[in-house]
Formats: sequence, C-alpha cells, structure tokens
Amino acid sequence: MPGKDIKNNTNTADIVKPASDAATELRELFVDSLKDIYWAENALVNALPKMVNNATSANLASTIKDHILVTKNQIVRLETIFDLLGEKAEGKKCEAMAGLLKEGDSILEETTPGPVRDAGIIAASQKIEHYEIATYGTLCAFAKAIGENDAAKLLTQTLNEEKEADMLLSAVAFGAVNFDSATEQDIDLSLISDDELKIK
Ligand code: FE
Ligand code: ZN
Ligand code: FE
Ligand code: FE
Repeated sequence: MPGKDIKNNTNTADIVKPASDAATELRELFVDSLKDIYWAENALVNALPKMVNNATSANLASTIKDHILVTKNQIVRLETIFDLLGEKAEGKKCEAMAGLLKEGDSILEETTPGPVRDAGIIAASQKIEHYEIATYGTLCAFAKAIGENDAAKLLTQTLNEEKEADMLLSAVAFGAVNFDSATEQDIDLSLISDDELKIK
C-alpha cells in the first residue's frame, strides 16, 4: 500500500484503466509472463544464428551455438510447464526481447567484422541474458508464491542456464575479444582484480 504522502502526489490522469481481460490474480499474471518468455525464447532461436555467422572469434561462435541448443531445450521446458498448469503453450509478443534483438541488429550494422563486432555481439547477447535472468527470477518467485513447486523447479533450471550463459560470455570477452579490440588504450590487467577474472 502506498503511503498517504505518495497518494497525495498521484496524478489521477496517470492511473491506467485495466483492459477487459486484465489479470486479477497472480496466477494469470504468471501465465501471461510465461507466454511472454515463450515468445522471446522462440524469437531468440531464430535470431541467434545470425549472431553466430557474424562472429569472428571461434570461441564466441561456439558459445552462442551451444546456447541455441540450450534455448531449444528451454522452449520444451516451457511447454512442460504449460502442460503442468493445464494451459495451452502459446506466445505473446515480448516487446522487450523484440527491442533487444533490434538493438543487436543495429550493433551489427554499426561495427566492422572482427574484434569490434565481436565485442558488440557479446554486449548485445549479455543484455539478452540479463533480461532472461530477470524474467526467470521473477517467474520462479511467482511459481513459488502460488504453490506451483514443480514449475518453480523447472524455471530454476532455466534460470541457472541463463546465468551460466552470461558467465560464459564474460569469459569469452576476458579471454580475447575485448582485449584485441582495445588497441589504443591498452587495458591494464593489474587494475582488474582476481575476483573479476575468475569464472566459477
Ligand atoms: Fe533462454
Ligand atoms: Zn520477455
Ligand atoms: Fe517481456
Ligand atoms: Fe539465454
């Protein structure tokens, strides 16, 4: 509940009128959010091959290629969750993922092939992984809150895969790509702590 002082400052014109099919229960919001990420994962499977083809570093290309397989399995996992809930597996356009993929495309246009484009691909991919980490973290919390513990377990598996993908991309960046692209201002490795370099 917002405090009284906050309430007094509210501009009533900003209060959004809910759509006729708006969620009234957390379970509905949960299912809607599952449809959103189902759309997003399918969009990723279609978009990631272009990132692979534009990568110069073999390590970067194989890291993304591996994640395509992981993503396909995440789609199957989401279908299992829809089944568990007795809901139809269907996607609902995720505006955030559509925007992140559009940004990824413009990064390709704005870079020449080689280490700089690779650095751009890593940046775009990590924004995507972070969006997925945020989404699956929320979905796990929603599932637990409504007592869907089997769904929560499956969502935790995906959450861990997204975190791992993010770490692998960091490892690729530290391993070569970003250092190769830093030709003019050389990165002083002594300024980076051991902790930051360590990939668990
Ligand atoms: Fe994913
Ligand atoms: Zn989404
Ligand atoms: Fe979304
Ligand atoms: Fe991912």
